[in-house]
Amino acid sequence: MTDAAGTETHFDLIVVGGGPAGYGAALYGASAGLNVALVEKDKVGGTCLHRGCIPAKELLETAHVFRSVAHAADFGVEVGTPALNWSTTMARKAQVVGGLFSGLSGLLKHRKVTLFAGTGTLGADRSVTVTGDDRDQVVLTADAVILAAGSVPRTIPGFEVGGPVLTSDEVFELTERPARVAVIGGGAIGCEFASMLADLGSQVTILEALPQILPGVDKDVVNTVLRSFKGRGIDVRTGVRVNGHQPSGASTTLDVEGADPLEVDAVVVSVGRRPLSESLGLDGTGVVVDERGFVEVDEYCRTAVEGVWAVGDLIATPGLAHVGYAEAILVVKQLLGEVAVPVDYSRVPWCIYCQPEVAFVGMTEQAARDAGFEVVVAKHRWGGNSRALIIGETEGMVKIIAEKSADGTAGRILGVHMSGPWVTEQLGAGYLSVNWEATVDEVAHFLQPHPSLTESFGEAVLSLTGRSLNG
Ligand code: NAD
Repeated sequence: MTDAAGTETHFDLIVVGGGPAGYGAALYGASAGLNVALVEKDKVGGTCLHRGCIPAKELLETAHVFRSVAHAADFGVEVGTPALNWSTTMARKAQVVGGLFSGLSGLLKHRKVTLFAGTGTLGADRSVTVTGDDRDQVVLTADAVILAAGSVPRTIPGFEVGGPVLTSDEVFELTERPARVAVIGGGAIGCEFASMLADLGSQVTILEALPQILPGVDKDVVNTVLRSFKGRGIDVRTGVRVNGHQPSGASTTLDVEGADPLEVDAVVVSVGRRPLSESLGLDGTGVVVDERGFVEVDEYCRTAVEGVWAVGDLIATPGLAHVGYAEAILVVKQLLGEVAVPVDYSRVPWCIYCQPEVAFVGMTEQAARDAGFEVVVAKHRWGGNSRALIIGETEGMVKIIAEKSADGTAGRILGVHMSGPWVTEQLGAGYLSVNWEATVDEVAHFLQPHPSLTESFGEAVLSLTGRSLNG
């Protein structure tokens, strides 16, 4: 079906929002033969590619290189004191993002996904109106609509963005490295920025309202991160309240309850993200939005309107790109009439790319005990791992939580929690173990290459059988 201008307007599937959840649905649907329209008001790739995961990890890699060069003399490689060229750093980040953006754009084109540039709003009749920058409108119809409008950084009263006050969106555009930084909120985003900026030479203070940074992460793992942060000069203050700030020139002074005023050159507000449901014109459509702005869905990502689904940061599920991918696949399988298994949100992989990296899946020790499990726990430090000693990175631990069997031995693996070198690349075995509901005896049967970092996982599992090799 085409309109008067000859534009195709009817599709099997319309996806509104081109972040990981949205482009994931478009690519997966198109690869299954669906005729897909993708509506995006900015650039395909969304927050993850342009203002989130990818640029953050790229800058964290710069921090990694900087640290490696700073310690090169330990290996007998004498290069002198490293210096940072911020504009090259930012140019490399832009180049990586740009390369992935063209790759994604090419992939969408190759799969014959029709891209509509503009803001998509849902009609009561399930049509989608796309309004472009020039206010031109096109009305699209489809058998199914997936809403994937994503999220934006939350702010806090008194810390409106501008001048020294930044959110993750602005950090990626910094033209120079700030000398003194306050990070408000010690979640994943706050800890990644704090770690990166501290390694690149900024003086960093984390101000977290809760008693612990990295909420949701196993306490032992958090303590390894804390030890490293403190060792690298990051001032971590938990249980604090920030009442406001007084800018003066390019810097600003924070009013921290019960503590001395804190003067900094940049404030990074990383207190969570909020869904962008208001951009979708959902009033009167029947799609239900909760008081926090999340679109309400069931376990199959179905909204209250037949034929309309919502995925990604727009719904109240973990704000992770790979969760968005999983939800996209779940919905497309339903459209194809295939067996669709809801996402088990309690067992998704979590990876935080600060130094030391954090990676985990399943229950923390505390969560397992709170849920009434009797548990057996193994903790392995990297000091006993040959590869960790070779690369010179021994911060962190591998911790495995298993259900205690009736005979007192360790049974099913409930959680795998890691911090340390490249653990974000090592979670695979733990992820499969927890999701397969494998027991320690079953997993202990499998080999890990020697020498490798993954041996620590293998050793930790082996030790839970009551015997061990090196650990
Ligand atoms: P978050 O919710 O993970 O952490 C926000 C932190 O800010 C919490 O610890 C909270 O207690 C604290 N906070 C809230 N209000 C505060 C205040 N007024 N003063 C001080 N502290 C305050 O949010 P985030 O770190 O901004 O991340 C947002 C989303 O992006 C999350 O869904 C996160 O999972 C996702 N994300 C994930 C990764 C990753 O897994 N590597 C990386 C970046 C972002």
